[in-house]
Amino acid sequence: MFDAAIVGAGPAGAATAIHLARRGMRVVLLERTQGDRRKACGEGIFPRGLEELRRLEVHPAVDSLGAPLTGVRFNAAPYQATATFGGGSLALGMQRTDLDPLLRRRAVEVGAELRLGASVRSLVRGPGRFTGVETEDGERIEAAVIVGADGLRSRIRWLAGLDRPQHRRRYGISAHLQLPRPVDPLVDIHFHDDAEVYVTPVGPATVNVAMLFRRGMRSSSGGPTAAFRGLIQSHALLAAGTLLDVPVAAGPFPAASRRPWRDNLLLVGDAAGFVDAISGEGISTSLLSARACADAVVRYLDSDLERSFERYARQRGGLARNADLLAHLSLVLSSRPWLARHSVRNLMRQPETFRRLLGVSAGDLRVADLRPRDLLALTVGV
Ligand SMILES: Cc1cc2nc3c(=O)[nH]c(=O)nc-3n(C[C@H](O)[C@H](O)[C@H](O)COP(=O)(O)OP(=O)(O)OC[C@H]3O[C@@H](n4cnc5c(N)ncnc54)[C@H](O)[C@@H]3O)c2cc1C
Repeated sequence: MFDAAIVGAGPAGAATAIHLARRGMRVVLLERTQGDRRKACGEGIFPRGLEELRRLEVHPAVDSLGAPLTGVRFNAAPYQATATFGGGSLALGMQRTDLDPLLRRRAVEVGAELRLGASVRSLVRGPGRFTGVETEDGERIEAAVIVGADGLRSRIRWLAGLDRPQHRRRYGISAHLQLPRPVDPLVDIHFHDDAEVYVTPVGPATVNVAMLFRRGMRSSSGGPTAAFRGLIQSHALLAAGTLLDVPVAAGPFPAASRRPWRDNLLLVGDAAGFVDAISGEGISTSLLSARACADAVVRYLDSDLERSFERYARQRGGLARNADLLAHLSLVLSSRPWLARHSVRNLMRQPETFRRLLGVSAGDLRVADLRPRDLLALTVGV
């Protein structure tokens, strides 16, 4: 019998396992893949996520890995606006095939049991609570607490009756490119009429290219991969690059839970809810809420009180709020190309406003810290 069975060993699940195992809990981390599958992601980790990775003490230290990023650049031709992270802090571009194994290794190092190829198919229920999970192989694993960290299309969220149906309309796709020369250490975001293209350096002259688009494009001729290749060809620098891997897709989003817990089961990371990849905050929010989730599990095991889960729900809501609000705002911009151009032009003229908006996204400032003129700059212009 484990203290906690964690379903899914992405950033949210692995980080929750690290926190719990470090505190002496018996933890099993169940991952359906063999640990080598790529995940569609922009691979930009914002400063507060990077800080959280440092706290997890992964080896080698994250600062020696990936590509440091100083800020973000918005492009809506003919306009271009750049903002750097406040206080000289850095973000990190890091491939998920490096990040995820790093976190899993750390979980094992601090005492968690990792089972790769363990795909959870159902929850086992006893009187008034869940008693464990069952894998596709028919193995039953008993635990005092179940944590669903199984991502955007969480089966655990659905099995626990926590799924909140959404009008799901957006998709993402990503791949890596080797470029002829290194690029600026920035997340470069290009607003197109029907997609946003994110270019994030993840190594010397290696970039991640992630595209976000609406449902219509998915069914356009050739599907998302053809659309992906087409958009690459329309960028002078990207067109000169070499595709290093096959594009992988994710979606649809958004996804939401009615609440992130029920009885002795909690949801963390994308499983608890994901508005959109447009804010580039998913990994950071997952890592930070993993710590809050682990705290709630420990308190619950000490006291058996559901109050600790209510507190987790509030904490998680607070951690996701800024990124979610910015995601909603950015979605309004991206759905109207003329508005995106207008806003990027305003941000180019008002660098302080752009810096403040990035501060909110990076977690240095709260949405409440924004001045009315910051929000106006994004819409009507001042
Ligand atoms: C196109 C795109 C671009 C993005 N760009 C960025 C970005 O630049 N920066 C950023 O911070 N975030 C970005 N995100 C968001 C980020 O990828 C997610 O928020 C993050 O991966 C969430 O981590 P997670 O651990 O909750 O879920 P995941 O990373 O999805 O991990 C879930 C894990 O659960 C496993 N699993 C699923 N079902 C089962 C099961 N039944 N049994 C066992 N295991 C299971 C999966 O195999 C997987 O390993 C992007 C997302 C998309 C789609």
